[in-house]
Amino acid sequence: MKLILCYHNFVDDEEDKNGPYAKLYGQSRSITRENLSQQLSWLKQEFDVVGLDEMVQEDRSSRRLAITVDDGFRSMVDHAYPVLKELQVPATWFIASAYVQNSELHPWWFLLDFVREKVSHRFEFAFEGKSIVHDPVSKDSFFSEMRSLFLKLPAPRRNKLQEQLEQAIRQWVDIPQNSFIREDELIHLFKETDLIVPGCHTHQHVNCGIEPKEFIEEELITNQAFIESVYGKKSPFFAFPYGRKDSYRVEQETREALRRASISHAFTTERSYMKKNGDDYFIPRLTMQPNWSIKKMRYFVKNLNQVNFLMKVKRALN
Ligand SMILES: [Zn+2]
Repeated sequence: MKLILCYHNFVDDEEDKNGPYAKLYGQSRSITRENLSQQLSWLKQEFDVVGLDEMVQEDRSSRRLAITVDDGFRSMVDHAYPVLKELQVPATWFIASAYVQNSELHPWWFLLDFVREKVSHRFEFAFEGKSIVHDPVSKDSFFSEMRSLFLKLPAPRRNKLQEQLEQAIRQWVDIPQNSFIREDELIHLFKETDLIVPGCHTHQHVNCGIEPKEFIEEELITNQAFIESVYGKKSPFFAFPYGRKDSYRVEQETREALRRASISHAFTTERSYMKKNGDDYFIPRLTMQPNWSIKKMRYFVKNLNQVNFLMKVKRALN
C-alpha cells in the first residue's frame, strides 16, 4: 500500500479557522495544527513516511506514505512546519510562483471567497460583451457561475475576467495582499531545513486541461526557474493545479511539456493508492479534508479502495 496525501492550508487552532485568514484562504481546506499533529503521529505508526523521491522508487518497502502540500500559502511555514519538524516528517511543497513573487496578485478562488465574505453590495461588470451581476441575495449562484467560468477559461481570458472582477470589488472594498509565502522566506526555509522540498505547480496556477501546450511548457519553465532561484536546483516533481481528470491532458503533448521542463513525476488528485507500474505522469493522491475526524481520516487512508467502490455505487444509484 503506497499513498500520497495532499494538503493545502493550515491554521493555528479551531478559533483561527473562523478568523479572517482562514475564511479568505480556503477555510474549507484549512487543517489545524493539532489535527495535523494527530494525523501525522498516527500515520507514522502505520506507514514508512518518506519524501516523494523515496516514494517513487520501486525497490523500497511497500507500506509507504508521502506528504505533499499544494499552492504556497505561508501557513505551511507558520503552522505546519513546526509539526513536521517536531515529528521529523518530510514534505513536498508544490508552489505556484506568480503569487509568491507578487503579493498583489490573487488566485481567482481567493477573490470569490473574498466577495462572499466581504462584499455585501450589488455590483455589475462587463465581460466579453456580457454583463455579470453580483447580487448579495444570491451569493451562491454568483459563486458557482464564476467558479465554472474561471475553470474553463484559458489564461489570457481568465486574467481579463479577474481584472474586471477586481475593479468591481474595489469600488466597494480594498483587497488585501495575498497570503502566499515570500521569496526571501523561502530561501531562508530551504537553507534551514531538508524536511521541506519545493515542487512545481505552474507559475500562475493554470488549468493544464485547457491550455495550449506551448503555454503549459512556458508556465512550467518559469516555475522551474523560480524554484531553482530559491532552492538552488530544479524539482523533478509537479502537481497538476486543480488536479482532477479535466485539469490535465493525457495527450502526448502534456508529457512532452513535462519532460522538457525536467519533470520526471507528476501528481493528480485522483483519489487512489499509488498503482504498481502506474503512469509516472499521472500519480494519484488523496486530498485531506479538514472536516474529517481523526477516525474518518484513518478509515479513508486504510480503506480507499472500498471508499471509491462505495462512491461509484452511490453515483450509479443516483
Ligand atoms: Zn493548487
